[in-house]
Parts: sequence; C-alpha cells; structure tokens
Amino acid sequence: MSQEFNITVLPGDGIGPEVIREAVKILKIIERKKNLKLNLTEAPVGGAGYEAAGHPLPDDTLKAAQSADAVLLGAVGGPKWETIDFSLRPERALLGLRSSLGLFANLRPAKIFAPLIEASTLKREVVEGLDIMVVRELTGGIYFGEPRGVETLADGTRRGVNTLVYTEPEIERIAKVAFDVAGKRNKNVFSIDKANVLECTGLWREVVTKVHADYQDITLSHMYVDNCAMQLVRNPKQFDVIVTTNMFGDILSDQASMLTGSIGMLPSASLGDGKAAMYEPIHGSAPDIAGQDIANPLATILSVGMMFKYSFNLEGVNTILEKVVDDVLAQGYRTGDIMSKGGKQVGCIAMGDRVAEELEKQL
Ligand code: NAD
Repeated sequence: MSQEFNITVLPGDGIGPEVIREAVKILKIIERKKNLKLNLTEAPVGGAGYEAAGHPLPDDTLKAAQSADAVLLGAVGGPKWETIDFSLRPERALLGLRSSLGLFANLRPAKIFAPLIEASTLKREVVEGLDIMVVRELTGGIYFGEPRGVETLADGTRRGVNTLVYTEPEIERIAKVAFDVAGKRNKNVFSIDKANVLECTGLWREVVTKVHADYQDITLSHMYVDNCAMQLVRNPKQFDVIVTTNMFGDILSDQASMLTGSIGMLPSASLGDGKAAMYEPIHGSAPDIAGQDIANPLATILSVGMMFKYSFNLEGVNTILEKVVDDVLAQGYRTGDIMSKGGKQVGCIAMGDRVAEELEKQL
C-alpha cells in the first residue's frame, strides 16, 4: 500500500505563490515516482490571509496547519500591509504558526553548491565543501522572556527591558534535536553560548553537557558566541551542527547562510515534539521582484527535500533532490540572483521546469 501524507500549502504573499507553484510541481513528481499519496490543501496566510478573512492567520488556515503531517510555507509580507495594526501584520502569522504548532527547533542548513562557489564573498578554499546545520531554539529565550517593555522612570528617563529565560526542559529538548541531527551527519556538535557573562547560558552549557551523556558517539564542543561569529568567517568548515539560543541562532544562521552566496538558495525546517513541522525558504516575500517571474524557486524546492527527510523519513528523496539542483546549476542554469558570467539566465518557472525534468530522470 502506498504511503499517504497530508501537506498544508501556504503560498502567502509577493513571490511566495510563485516559488510555491514550482515546489508543488516537484511534489507531484515525487508523489508519482515514489508511488505516494500526497493530499495537498492550500490556504491563505499573511497578507493573503488578512485580505481573505481579516486576519494574517485565519482560523481555517491554522486548523489546516495543525492537522497536517507537514506545512509548506512560501513567504509573507509586503508594503500593502505595512501600515495596518501591528497585531494584524502578515509577519504575525509566522509567530502564530510556530507557537501554536510548538515548533521549537529551527534547522537551517548552510550548504554550498559547487557550481555556486564563485557567488560566495569568501575565498574558494574557505567555503568549498561547506555543509553546516544551524539548530536554533525558536520559541524561548530573550524574544519571549518576561518582563519586557519600555517604562518611564520617576525622573522622566526611560528604561528598556528584555529578559533572557531558559528552563532546563527547553534546553534539553533542543539539545536532543541537535544530537539527533548530528547523528545523521558528521556527528559533531558545537553548542554556542555566552556562559562567561550570562548565567542563563551557563545553565544552557550545563544542560547540553548533561544531555550529551546519552549521545556518546557524538562529539560536543562549547564555544562563546563572539568566537563563533569570528570562526564562521575564518574557518567555517570546522562546523557540522551548531546548536544555540533563539537570538544567537537568529544572527549566526543568517551569517552562516550567507557564506553560501544567495538567500534564494536556502531552505529551512521548523520542528516540534510531535508530528507538526513547517518547511519554508529563509527569504521573505521580495515585493521588489514579485510578479515578474524572476524569483529563485530553489530554496523552496530544497525545503520540500527537507520535508521528505525530516517529516516523512524518506531521506533518499532529499539526497536526490539536492543532487538534481546541483546538476541543474552545473548545467549553467541561473536565476538573476545567482547569475554569473557564462550562465544561462532563466526565470522562476523555467528553473522549476529544469529541476522537474532532471528529477524525472533521476528519481
Ligand atoms: P526578502 O528576503 O524578501 O528580500 C531581500 C532581497 O533578496 C530582495 O532584494 C529580494 O528581491 C531578494 N530575494 C529574496 N528572495 C529571493 C528569491 N527567492 N530569488 C531572488 N531574489 C530574492 O527580505 P526583505 O526585503 O527584508 O522583506 C520583504 C518582505 O518579506 C517584508 O514584508 C518582510 O517582513 C517579509 N519577510 C518575510 C519572511 C517570511 O515570510 N519568512 C522572512 C523575511 C522577511
């Protein structure tokens, strides 16, 4: 009997629907070639949710996401919604999805595709073969800690406060994700903290070390965040898996991802304890290029690959999809954002078609 999976597809705004359309093309091929049954349910989110139902995360969209085996998201946001009340802005949908699905672990691979080495701002020898996975805690830390806010003191001056909080269970569960991910890779975890200054991340270091006792085949090292920022530029290939807090992960994952050259190439996965998981490109809705058929769909297509690896336990599909993308790039096909001398420039639809054709041959 063929395996069946329910996928909720949230195209969103700007280039979101364009890159999602190409990713859906790829899903259909995988479904047919692997003899699966993929039930795709599309729902509005972000600005599109606001237009359809007056809220960036309409109830029906949230329900569809909660009942799915996996969610595939395009991107949200745009100038049209920049002046509406903060609570109704498209980006609020992302926080709503993460918190209601309990997605506490954000996985962001920074892997360089050999044909794109020249697109990196770093030297070839520094980035060639680069393959890092940043595991960022996503629902705790200073972005959520209380108390928070800006208050006016008796003398009329103002005081801004945010609070860095982590409980032992929050640290334990993200550490487990990192060690499990490392077990499927090169078995090497760097835990990043600022334990020399922040007590909370001293606890982080202690708990990660304790969890490591159950993962003796994995190497664990600790590094301060300032050193990590420096090492990522100096010698990024020393890293396999990086696990860190919400804010450090926010910054370091952007830094790590840009080692590879283009934002249009980078997928991500957000995982929780249960079956819920969300897959999305790391880029935004790129309103400056929306509707022109020039967006790079590869980050979204690679997010589909991560879905098969992490949600459906079909890692082989991800391996082949990554190879197919590498092959299409090696054949010289480029969207505008990764265009280089001698490349054959194609649009979003044509890039999706090239990947689809190659996948038909290789899957
Ligand atoms: P962005 O990622 O949308 O765009 C940054 C730059 O990269 C732009 O020049 C854009 O044209 C380019 N770019 C992005 N994705 C590309 C792709 N696939 N192919 C080719 N070029 C690409 O970031 P921004 O401009 O800061 O934000 C635009 C909107 O997106 C804002 O409303 C922002 O809030 C939202 N946003 C959403 C998400 C999300 O949905 N997860 C993430 C970041 C930003």
